[in-house]
Amino acid sequence: MRIARTIPPAASPITVRDLLNGFRGFLRQAEEIRRFERELKGHFGIRHCFSVSSGKAALTMILGALHDLYPARSEVVIPAFCCYSVPSAVVRAGLKVVLCDVDPETLDFDFAQLARVVSKRRDDSLLAVVPVHLFGLSSDIDRVRTLVDDPHVAIVEDAAQVMGAEHGGRKMGTVGDAGFFSLGRGKALSTVEGGVVVTDRCDIAAGIRRRMTLVPEYGGSDLIWQMVQAIALMVMQRPSFFWLPKSIPFLKVGGTFYEPDFRIRKMSAFHAGLARNWRNKLTDHSRARVAAAAAWSRIPWPDGLSNYSRRNGKPIHFIRYPLHVKDPGLWRDLLECSQTEGLGIMLTYPNSIDEIPELKDRFAGQGFPGANRLAREILTLPVHPLLSGRDRNRIERAFGAFFTGPETDRTRNRGESR
Ligand SMILES: *Cc1c(COP(=O)(O)O)cnc(C)c1O
Repeated sequence: MRIARTIPPAASPITVRDLLNGFRGFLRQAEEIRRFERELKGHFGIRHCFSVSSGKAALTMILGALHDLYPARSEVVIPAFCCYSVPSAVVRAGLKVVLCDVDPETLDFDFAQLARVVSKRRDDSLLAVVPVHLFGLSSDIDRVRTLVDDPHVAIVEDAAQVMGAEHGGRKMGTVGDAGFFSLGRGKALSTVEGGVVVTDRCDIAAGIRRRMTLVPEYGGSDLIWQMVQAIALMVMQRPSFFWLPKSIPFLKVGGTFYEPDFRIRKMSAFHAGLARNWRNKLTDHSRARVAAAAAWSRIPWPDGLSNYSRRNGKPIHFIRYPLHVKDPGLWRDLLECSQTEGLGIMLTYPNSIDEIPELKDRFAGQGFPGANRLAREILTLPVHPLLSGRDRNRIERAFGAFFTGPETDRTRNRGESR
């Protein structure tokens, strides 16, 4: 067990002031939630917004509303490499997961395969395509739209990891027919748990509004537990304490689970209150994340390691900085080194979606080589605001030990840290 500074792979700071805002929000009840939704609508320039207990709950609500509109359609295309919450939500909505492979060069759909997947479904079975903006990279929604070319098939943006980010002058999450953000742990903005649906489509919004009347609220006694969780997250995600939750196995920190039987609740007023200062927090945090990602991008990564930041110079609002490590031995060594030294370098999802034990029979005989590789070849570096300059140097030194690598850069960065 490691009892020393341990960097979490992702973190979104919570302050004492946020906690007080949370409590104040609890006292204001429904008015606090209306305030949050009003601000979201204004900021994102959309007409409809619904706040629920998680990102998966948000996706489930969207898919349910779509299924109400087109009951004969039940298939949902998702990338074969993404967060397990995505297939969990599809299954929770009573729909069928259809996978499309992912291009290891872009982390977006393998568009040649997407074209085949979509054209095979000219029989009106396709309900939606869910492009996922992974780690901060944007999925090419316009290209998805061109391929799908059917107004009855919705494009639902998984913007869980990119709240507040823009691409091509458009706010990510608002480009598709509907989108959702997650306010879970380690996201761009965190209220411990929470999720937000955004859409401009009145028919989808009407369906969600109808379904929301059946969604239970948290109980009054949940407040205590929510406060305990918020305080624990505020303290324990700090690098000086993160070793503690990480060493307690039953907390399963950083684990990824397929669980279609999750709870769906309306967002709690406490969580909406925690988010009170959300626009400033998003701005401040993303400034820190963009700066850390820029520092990682300046490193001349050796052969066999590639990053995803070469995109015509525009800063990318990564929430974790992905590196593609093509040598499995090196991938394992880096993770092991991070584990012993607490560097916050992490694998992403333990398997591709077609390899999830509960699901894999459904995809027998189908191939997703890109996704399979990514599950074993991607790891991420931390970029969150709790990462210090000294932490960055420690990580770089660790990499330096594996390569005869970037000496000049390391010396320069050492000067930079306080
Ligand atoms: C976190 C996440 C979700 C789910 O959000 P929760 O709030 O954890 O339910 C969905 N998709 C992606 C890509 C995510 O990172």
